[in-house]
Amino acid sequence: MVPRRPLRDPQGARHRLPRQVRQPLPADRGLPVLGPVGLALADLPQHRQAADRARPAADAVTVGPGVRSSSRRFLDSPRSRPVEAEQPMRDAPDVLVIGGGPAGSVAATLLADAGHRVLVLERERFPRYHIGESLLSATLPILDAVGATPAIERHGFLRKPGGTFLWGRQRAPWSFWFREDPGGRPHAYQVVRAEFDQLLLENARAHGAEVREEHAVTAVEADDGRPVVHARGAGGAALRLAPRFVIDASGQAAVIGRARALRQFDDFFKNLAVFGYFRGAERLPGELANHILSAAFADGWFWYIPLHDGTMSVGAVVDARRWRALTEGDPEGTYRGLIARCPAIAERLAGATLVSPVRIIRDYSYTSTRFTGPGFLLAGDAACFIDPVFSTGVHL
Ligand SMILES: Cc1cc2nc3c(=O)[nH]c(=O)nc-3n(C[C@H](O)[C@H](O)[C@H](O)COP(=O)(O)OP(=O)(O)OC[C@H]3O[C@@H](n4cnc5c(N)ncnc54)[C@H](O)[C@@H]3O)c2cc1C
Repeated sequence: MVPRRPLRDPQGARHRLPRQVRQPLPADRGLPVLGPVGLALADLPQHRQAADRARPAADAVTVGPGVRSSSRRFLDSPRSRPVEAEQPMRDAPDVLVIGGGPAGSVAATLLADAGHRVLVLERERFPRYHIGESLLSATLPILDAVGATPAIERHGFLRKPGGTFLWGRQRAPWSFWFREDPGGRPHAYQVVRAEFDQLLLENARAHGAEVREEHAVTAVEADDGRPVVHARGAGGAALRLAPRFVIDASGQAAVIGRARALRQFDDFFKNLAVFGYFRGAERLPGELANHILSAAFADGWFWYIPLHDGTMSVGAVVDARRWRALTEGDPEGTYRGLIARCPAIAERLAGATLVSPVRIIRDYSYTSTRFTGPGFLLAGDAACFIDPVFSTGVHL
């Protein structure tokens, strides 16, 4: 059950939490109809519309030996085993949610709590790796609203009291503290996303949403606002579902946004991120130990995020136009070279060991021309993402 306290959002607006009754869906309320009714969305990826084809897809490249030992431990845990393989698939849920990341899990939980039949189709089997570890305190009321706070607290993620910057003309580090936000929460969390996302997805299940992992949505057709969703299960079986409403929470895969060429890439943020995980990294001193450190240097900036498994998430954000070829030619060499160019990070990693592959992600800053359409709504990264410097991704 969701507590019925009003929520406070970052702008200070107050929301009522969903009632435990069946609510009208946005499609029933006559959301704006986009484009010609009945416009069929093309199958992905073969027939992407021309404008989207011209833009490179957000992409992550993984190189280097092995995976993090912490991920392996979590992958071995009982909760990673398939649990629903033998159960029947509902053919017509009220709401079909594409993607079981934070946006999909939260939407599914709230809709299930409101009495709707919800089906989440998630392409991967959780836990799966994801970037985006440093949360905002404003996210905590949302975790409360979906009833996930006890599990998140029990899990032992580091409490993040704020952030520290080495940025601008000021040479000394400066910090902000969530406790300085009047009426806000005094901390956020630094989370290992594989674990955090799985807790949220399990929470959605516990609230009554049906979750199918290893089910990839391949296309969404819109016909008079009544969507038809095509998907493929783990064994290759094709599915065709006709929910009343679709929430696209597929992250940067942006299933509907790509098919409808809704995405508009940002002219200013043309960055790429190259990142990995270290053991033995020096933490910030004293009460700053759980802060994110954001350190600017000549070529961009670094994030430096302590995690509860003892690793440090270290990522460089640099101009994609200048660094793309270098990072893709020699990811680890370029990554280490970038670290060497930022003394604030290099000094703290002097005695540390890289314990993960080096990953690259690019083409992640965009918005969508519309966030809704006939029978669908875009949520989370499937709608837009700005830049990691604000740590707003999971919150939004
Ligand atoms: C370099 C970088 C650093 C970042 N750092 C931070 C940070 O410190 N803090 C922060 O808050 N945010 C950060 N972010 C942003 C954060 O990663 C995202 O905003 C957040 O993960 C979005 O959540 P989501 O649920 O919308 O999407 P996701 O978390 O991406 O979840 C989408 C899910 O959809 C599934 N999916 C995809 N395609 C399909 C399909 N066809 N069918 C079914 N399922 C599908 C995927 O497997 C995935 O599980 C960062 C982003 C980048 C690029």
